[in-house]
Amino acid sequence: MAKTYDPQNIFAKILRGEIPNKTVLETEHSLAFHDIAPQAPHHVLVIPKGAYVCYDDFALEASEAEIVDFTRAVGEVCRMLGVQPGEGGAGFRLISNAGDNGLQEVPHLHVHILAGRRLGRMLP
Ligand code: 5GP
Repeated sequence: MAKTYDPQNIFAKILRGEIPNKTVLETEHSLAFHDIAPQAPHHVLVIPKGAYVCYDDFALEASEAEIVDFTRAVGEVCRMLGVQPGEGGAGFRLISNAGDNGLQEVPHLHVHILAGRRLGRMLP
């Protein structure tokens, strides 16, 4: 079941142009911008423009056009940053936190793209 979407969350405000962002890529259904508190030399957030709280809402309720657009936007940003492995880049990590246990701070779906340094292991 869909979670209640809070239209006052900070990424909704960014999408409405109410607060500024450093845009990396904008597509029909997605926006990518630099994280305000980068945890790596490259730290970009990619969000869908639609009102989705987290991954399961998006994956199960978004249109195919939105899903394709978002998935491609993530890949395109990785290539724009030059971090794709095997072609001069050294790789990247994608993270999408969800809910309390996932320590999600902003309740609008976002994928973190982290790259530019060797990242620590996150799984036990
Ligand atoms: P979460 O913990 O929800 O997965 O990550 C939220 C991310 O949003 C954090 O990495 C945080 O630094 C970033 N963030 C929070 N507020 C803003 C903001 O106003 N602008 C930008 N660009 N990033 C933000």
